[in-house]
Amino acid sequence: MNKKEQIYEGKGKKLFATDDAATLIAEFKDDLTAFNAQKKAQEKGKGALNAAISAKLFRLIELNGVSTHLIKRLDETNHLIKKTQIIPIEVVVRNIATGSLTKRLGIAEGVKLPFALVEFYYKNDNLGDPILNDEHAVLMKLASENELKTLKELARKINDILRPFFESIQLKLVDFKVEFGRDQSGRILLADEIGPDSCRFWDANSGEKLDKDRFRQDLGGVKAAYEEVLRRVEGALK
Ligand code: UDP
Repeated sequence: MNKKEQIYEGKGKKLFATDDAATLIAEFKDDLTAFNAQKKAQEKGKGALNAAISAKLFRLIELNGVSTHLIKRLDETNHLIKKTQIIPIEVVVRNIATGSLTKRLGIAEGVKLPFALVEFYYKNDNLGDPILNDEHAVLMKLASENELKTLKELARKINDILRPFFESIQLKLVDFKVEFGRDQSGRILLADEIGPDSCRFWDANSGEKLDKDRFRQDLGGVKAAYEEVLRRVEGALK
């Protein structure tokens, strides 16, 4: 599949056209951003680590019955994907309280939530990705009521697949963000990526953070943490 002109550049990936109008190539970048891109850095090899981790997780998710945009990983940093229209809603699933949930609502850091909490955020950098309820999303025509129901169901299903998987490799899946797109027939597919840039992973034994919080909080060892996540994921998913 030929990589043709670049059609989009986001914070973590570039999208390229291919010979097939229904297919794109997503190239994972080495850029690290946090706090709505106010904090930026580069980490050589990070794109390849995320591309490898995300490909493995998308395959696991697909095998467990959730359709994704991933066709295949082409090389270190490039994924061949189905073209979708991205729904501008970041769907966050939380198992343990931390981050913005503790700041906004005063829930104690590290508390295990009684059920997986699903939240919607409006994907809009100018507004700083504000939290949304269903009625906001429907009146802004970001998605239909039916689609919101599907997004919640798929997000919970993905959590039900990933949480025990990460538990089996001694990682607590604290929370994560997913994005979805509509294909040409309107079917909703898991899109974007899943990995240490968009999830929080805490080592089950030491509690060590093995995700982008190492960058957000200047803890150092970002690449080593991502490498450790890949090592464990690859160890479990040959
Ligand atoms: N997240 C993300 N992109 C965003 C915002 C959040 O991938 O633009 C992920 C983040 O890595 C975490 C989860 O969503 O796994 C919940 O993040 P939170 O709302 O606590 O925001 P933060 O504290 O990261 O600002």
